[in-house]
Amino acid sequence: MNIHEYQAKAILKEFGINVAGGKLAYSSDEALQAAKELKGDKFVIKAQIHAGGRGLGGGVKIAKSLSEVESIAKDMLGMSLITPQTPKNGKVVRKIYIEEALDISKEIYLSLAFDRKEENISIIASKEGGMSIEETAKDHPELIKKVNVDPQIGLRDFHILNLIGFFEFSKELSLKFSEILKKLYQIYISKDANLIEINPLVLTSKDEFYALDAKMSFDDSAVFRHSEILALKDDDEEEPSELEAKKSRLNYVKLEGNVGCIVNGAGLAMATMDIIQNAGGKSANFLDVGGSANPASVAKAFEIILRDKNVKSIFVNIFGGIVRCDRIAGGILEAAKEFELKTPIVIRLQGTNSTEAMDMLKSAELKNLHVVENLLDGARLAVKFANEKDLI
Ligand code: ADP
Ligand code: MG
Repeated sequence: MNIHEYQAKAILKEFGINVAGGKLAYSSDEALQAAKELKGDKFVIKAQIHAGGRGLGGGVKIAKSLSEVESIAKDMLGMSLITPQTPKNGKVVRKIYIEEALDISKEIYLSLAFDRKEENISIIASKEGGMSIEETAKDHPELIKKVNVDPQIGLRDFHILNLIGFFEFSKELSLKFSEILKKLYQIYISKDANLIEINPLVLTSKDEFYALDAKMSFDDSAVFRHSEILALKDDDEEEPSELEAKKSRLNYVKLEGNVGCIVNGAGLAMATMDIIQNAGGKSANFLDVGGSANPASVAKAFEIILRDKNVKSIFVNIFGGIVRCDRIAGGILEAAKEFELKTPIVIRLQGTNSTEAMDMLKSAELKNLHVVENLLDGARLAVKFANEKDLI
């Protein structure tokens, strides 16, 4: 689960990390009022969307006067902000953060992220933080340092010394940096985060560190333990079809491929995606209809998947354990009637009442329904249909 910059900064502040004074605004009037209440005479107006790279897309702007705050706020609110991290048509800016502009002498990069391959927490630091960190990583890997922390051992002095040595900080700055790192690690562990990225972490002209940007993401499977984090969820930032699926108790994640999948059970859904990949295709989604799959939830699954314009074929792979295959077949036939299926559907039903289910589907004699018995054959056929359609 992701949160906004202003929310992440509130957490940083709570743990004693310096952040610039700032206020949230939903209108240009509120933006003006916020600026009046803040210190200084220069402000930074920052679009609050769940995506980075805002500076490059026009979502971070400096205002040198109160009237500029008002006009920038007017332009920014409601705009569709396109950054390298947003969907192609951007994300609508519904709120902005008005922040005191700081006097920056240096921008560095610091992040903590879960490293699945190494099975530990990876601290990544760069001497050159700011808006072009991706290029730095590509062109100047020597400016980037990675230190892995085994969560069983925790963050120790040797990890911190390693990073301080890399930055070649003075003694005074080393102490300050060390405090920040310890606090970030504490947030990471105590809140079950899987990413904390401070880019940039800046040094001001007075040699103080400030977190000028903050990105935080939390483990979806652990967030139930943190009601204060759950309260920060912003439904406007979620993929609408994923929210809708959740309401119907479907576990749906939209992906970029063209073969839609309807499967029961998360493990089987993952395996189905692997098999589609193996057959040379790409899944358009992950979808687990769950153990309580019924005709209505299957119909809902079709509705959500068919709304995705990328989908060129659908592979239904159901293993009937508690779920009865004939009920699923009923759901498929209902959906077929409702949506006048133009998209080829490949169906593999195995387990409880699968023979009855197959008979129901076959005798319906619907043009676009293809019943298969074997998983690999099914995946190959679904991929074949998806690719054929792509060529048209
Ligand atoms: P993003 O990473 O989404 O582009 P940032 O919050 O990192 O957005 O802002 C982009 C750049 O704008 C920063 O690298 C920094 O140079 C500048 N900036 C952001 N906030 C402030 C601020 N409060 N004072 C001065 N400069 C700022
Ligand atoms: Mg940034």
